[in-house]
Amino acid sequence: MTKLFWSIAVAVLSLAAAFGQSGTTPTATVIRAGTLIDGKSDQPRHNQVILIRGNHIESVSDAAKAKIPDDATVIDLSQATVLPGLIDSHTHIFLQGEDPAHGGYDANILTAPLALRAARATVAARRALEQGFTTLRDVETEGAGYGDVGIKQAIEAGYIPGPRLFVSTRAISTTGGYMLEGYAPELDMPKGAQIVDGPVEARKAAREQLDHGADWIKVYMTHRSWVGKNGELVSQPTLTVDELRAIVDETHGWGRKVACHAYGGIGLHRALDGGCDSIEHGLDLDAAAVAQMLKQGTWYVPTLSAYYYDWGPVDTPAGQRDRLRAAVHEPSFKKALKAGVKIVFGTDMGGIPWTDPIAQEFSRMVQFGMSPMDAMQSATSRAATMLDMEGKIGVIAPGAFADIVAVNGDPLHDIKELEKVQFVMKDGRVFRAK
Ligand SMILES: [Zn+2]
Repeated sequence: MTKLFWSIAVAVLSLAAAFGQSGTTPTATVIRAGTLIDGKSDQPRHNQVILIRGNHIESVSDAAKAKIPDDATVIDLSQATVLPGLIDSHTHIFLQGEDPAHGGYDANILTAPLALRAARATVAARRALEQGFTTLRDVETEGAGYGDVGIKQAIEAGYIPGPRLFVSTRAISTTGGYMLEGYAPELDMPKGAQIVDGPVEARKAAREQLDHGADWIKVYMTHRSWVGKNGELVSQPTLTVDELRAIVDETHGWGRKVACHAYGGIGLHRALDGGCDSIEHGLDLDAAAVAQMLKQGTWYVPTLSAYYYDWGPVDTPAGQRDRLRAAVHEPSFKKALKAGVKIVFGTDMGGIPWTDPIAQEFSRMVQFGMSPMDAMQSATSRAATMLDMEGKIGVIAPGAFADIVAVNGDPLHDIKELEKVQFVMKDGRVFRAK
């Protein structure tokens, strides 16, 4: 990509920012795409012209046949690979990869004022957008209450830049099922999730969260994990099937979905029996779980990369557990992939510092046998379907929002190119061009 091209692209920034603001037909913007990976098709197309009006894509056509409106602003990406804006379906903008050496998770909840956490969340949102992630499903605020609803409102009102957010507010777990823990029992410590016991409390928590703006409900179906007697990964189950069913029933009644954190064993099977829409992490999927996920159409958001961070020392129980988690995750992912489970891209960013590349997850998925095109679809059209946004995001096609990114190289050849997104448009506005 030449310097000249990018300076032209930068020059259109102000023009791009201006459209859609008068009552008349919005100004047209045209993107010339050297290679187009549209998010849905299995093959790339070459020399395409994308016509954008306002915040929508109006048409996509072969350059040879395209009619370019006289008043159109042209963005030349003819030397680049153009893709839909990417979707990360498992993030925590209210976490910043808290360093255990500096007090980790607990210090964040106990010492950071909410305004500080909100300020950091705005930076996390901007970093996601800078890296080409134009949509996030943010799966709980970790003790920051309904802060995600506020950040989403700030983005939608244009106060701060950021991706489209699907938020899940406080999340739900049971007594003994979430941090903070390990303090004197006499102390009433704050919890990173809303704690419920019994179906009545479970349903009430879901109602409260939905009432206050949750797009998804997040439930922790497992909590602690350790190495068992036979060297297997054991995970502590949390909610009962009855408790989970109350949440799922309530949430589905509102036309929304339930994301369930579940590693394996009893908690994972309760998650599936209770009707979770997506399984988060799914470190230890047995054959029965894979079969049930296929039968029920359950989404799988594996978040592979996060389990390669912050391993404890090798000679400690926690260190052994950390290594085992990663070791069972790989075959679980491969089993699910082979069986045809609907795998969606998610990272657990926030657990991972936002300074690290979000797109590193693509490399893990490809390393474990997913094709680069499949991996890209897991972060575009497939994620859009999970989010009930099929045809609106995750695809470059007429009628979709103009969420468009570009990289210089060919991600089908080297998936790491997605860690070097050079151009980002969200809602028809150029956010990044360099
Ligand atoms: Zn998470």
